[in-house]
Amino acid sequence: MIIMLSAPTAEQVNRVLDKIRQHGVEPHCLYGPEKTVITAFGESATLTADQFERLPGVEKIVCLPTPYKLVSRQFKPENTVVAAGNVEFGAKLAPVIAGPCAVESYEQLKETALAVKAAGAGMLRGGAYKPRTSPYSFQGLEAEGLRILKQVSLETELPVVSEVADPRVVETMAEHVAMLQIGARNMQNFALLKEVALVRNPVLLKRGPAATIEEWLMAAEYIVAGGNGNVVLCERGIRTFETYTRNTLDINAVPLTKQISHLPVIVDPSHGTGNWRLVNPVSRAALAAGADGLMVEVHPAPEEAVSDGPQSLTPANFDQLMAELSVVAAAVGRTVCAQSK
Ligand code: PEP
Ligand code: MN
Repeated sequence: MIIMLSAPTAEQVNRVLDKIRQHGVEPHCLYGPEKTVITAFGESATLTADQFERLPGVEKIVCLPTPYKLVSRQFKPENTVVAAGNVEFGAKLAPVIAGPCAVESYEQLKETALAVKAAGAGMLRGGAYKPRTSPYSFQGLEAEGLRILKQVSLETELPVVSEVADPRVVETMAEHVAMLQIGARNMQNFALLKEVALVRNPVLLKRGPAATIEEWLMAAEYIVAGGNGNVVLCERGIRTFETYTRNTLDINAVPLTKQISHLPVIVDPSHGTGNWRLVNPVSRAALAAGADGLMVEVHPAPEEAVSDGPQSLTPANFDQLMAELSVVAAAVGRTVCAQSK
């Protein structure tokens, strides 16, 4: 049960909280500027909506059958718009995030940033902490990578998104980048989800390679219930029996997730395919299916990239992608560039 109070006094809030506790359920309280939302999820046969309907301050009570509540479109029918720097996800603009898989050097990141910005990208990506399948693979430039990301972001005025893989690094990351990325492998790292819920930065939550849509939304629920409502979901492909592509991009997930949740959904065609030749057509399909943006890996010399070179576009490929995307975007009433070039 979700109880919404309009401009309540502390006394009104406490009355609702106490009443829920009397039923053996621990309530959860989210304080907004005007509304206060109290959630009461737990096993109780005696807790019913009518006990709260007439309490002072109570505006609305919502009971949902789904396990995810706050991220559900039934709870909040209108789209959530998430801002990262000067870029918005979930509105008319469908921003394109572009950049290398990993930050390799200042020069590499700056060159990529200038190229993708010129082509119309709204945001820069780059991993400073790289969770790799093998402990022997490049693990990222770590703190030095963060410093480079911040410097290039300031110099190019592109907000940055970067992956955080360790709850102990969340605060430092939050000071260096506009948006925090939870990688696919960490989608159910609940300690990490609870930690990113405590910062003000928006969060890009990737779908786990073997996660159902419901599990993905439950991971988002952790962040929203923890106090950070600025979550953007990212479909990046799931593991199937297919071996000709790195992952199988679940295009169904885009319209379906948008139907059942109010959160913006973007698509990562680079990890979704693992093949740079597929990035352009799959990006167009994603936008046509209603994606609220894209995240694309771009490297000035993909053959020399320390990670994910085979799926990285060159700046010239990216230019072409942006030109072709703008046609699809126009057909579905979106734009991909913040301002026309
Ligand atoms: C990445 O964005 O570089 C990355 C590691 O993605 P994922 O978590 O989707 O594999
Ligand atoms: Mn990558």
